[in-house]
Amino acid sequence: MTGTRLLLRNGHVIDTEPEPVARAGTDVLIEGDRIAAVGPGLPADGATVIDATDRIVLPGFVDTHRHLWETAIRTATVDMDLAGYMGVVMGQYGPRFRAPDVYAATLAGALEALDAGVTTLIDYSHALHTPEHADAAVDALQAAGLRAVFGYGSPFIGGGNPDDVRRIRVARLTVDDALVTMALAPGGPSFTPIEQVIADWRLADELGLPLTIHVSAGPVATRPISALREHGLLRANTLYVHGNSLDDDELKLIAESGGTASATPASEAQMRVGAPVAGRLRRAGVITGLGVDAVASLPGDMFSVMRAALLASQIADNPPLTAPDVLKMATLDGAAALGLADRIGSLRPGRQADVILLRLDDLNMLTAERDPIAAVVTAANPGNVETILVAGRIVKAAGSLVHGDLAQAVQALRTTAAAVNAR
Ligand SMILES: [Zn+2]
Repeated sequence: MTGTRLLLRNGHVIDTEPEPVARAGTDVLIEGDRIAAVGPGLPADGATVIDATDRIVLPGFVDTHRHLWETAIRTATVDMDLAGYMGVVMGQYGPRFRAPDVYAATLAGALEALDAGVTTLIDYSHALHTPEHADAAVDALQAAGLRAVFGYGSPFIGGGNPDDVRRIRVARLTVDDALVTMALAPGGPSFTPIEQVIADWRLADELGLPLTIHVSAGPVATRPISALREHGLLRANTLYVHGNSLDDDELKLIAESGGTASATPASEAQMRVGAPVAGRLRRAGVITGLGVDAVASLPGDMFSVMRAALLASQIADNPPLTAPDVLKMATLDGAAALGLADRIGSLRPGRQADVILLRLDDLNMLTAERDPIAAVVTAANPGNVETILVAGRIVKAAGSLVHGDLAQAVQALRTTAAAVNAR
């Protein structure tokens, strides 16, 4: 696509492909929705020039696991382990969400993510009690202005509504290279009986949908990946989340199948589900992205998650993950985990122009230009995100979101939070 031409001039540009590397004094040319060229001294040729001096320019972050609807119950589960979290979030709050609440929380959560430089996320949406709830979640993702995968989940362990999954797929999310696409997010073998798993996998195959599931050793299958293999269900296009309690040979099976993984080091520590898994997954050969997961108890930005991954790895892995490892997981590997690496996650020409600019002249970033990659992973925060492009479109400029009605989204979120607390 041609059309708008933008030149990001003279930045500290971090590309991630094949491995993260930072280059000073570098330009990024964007034509329409794509990266056209990266290099020093590119000719402007009538392009709109954005001065990237004292800015780090990098691909937008990819969040590979998140429950956006929990944005309306922030801090509800801070002191709880996984069992406590399940009881409060899925048992108490989930059933109180009506369709407009799902819309308000999903939209505000997506805008929060976008504002912090997350240009792509998968929403594992599991407060979908009726078709109206599912429509509300899709509406919100389509209004949010970021790239998103709608993971159609079930509020109940097992079951769900296959006919409504079909309706959303056939009537609403039909185009697999649109800004908002679809996945199936069922309970999976760790949490549902194998008969349900077989039905869910058949539904995904029928509709041509990728799968994403939480995995752990139990409470149903203690070796969930082996259970999938035994039933002929182990396949690519499946994104496994967590897996801290899985045996190493189960992680190897994921790698051999072409499946991918999402590690959520902050939520996994907070909910005490086991030792950090990101390094183990990578050593097993599994392409592994990072995820925020549960904003009911955790921050919603990828800087926090990258920091958690780096610090947790100092204890769990020898050698530990490096800052470039972690940045790649938060960008290109996350894109690959979602099956989107041919479109996003790097600044290679031809990729979609999902790009963020961070201020290096903010107080917390001064003198960090010696190592922009380490600066992003160890020092930066959402307040440094000045400019964001999604598919070549500017959605944040001069430090403020310019997409959507933020004031209205905030008001709707407050109304929803009050309503679900009162019910
Ligand atoms: Zn989750």
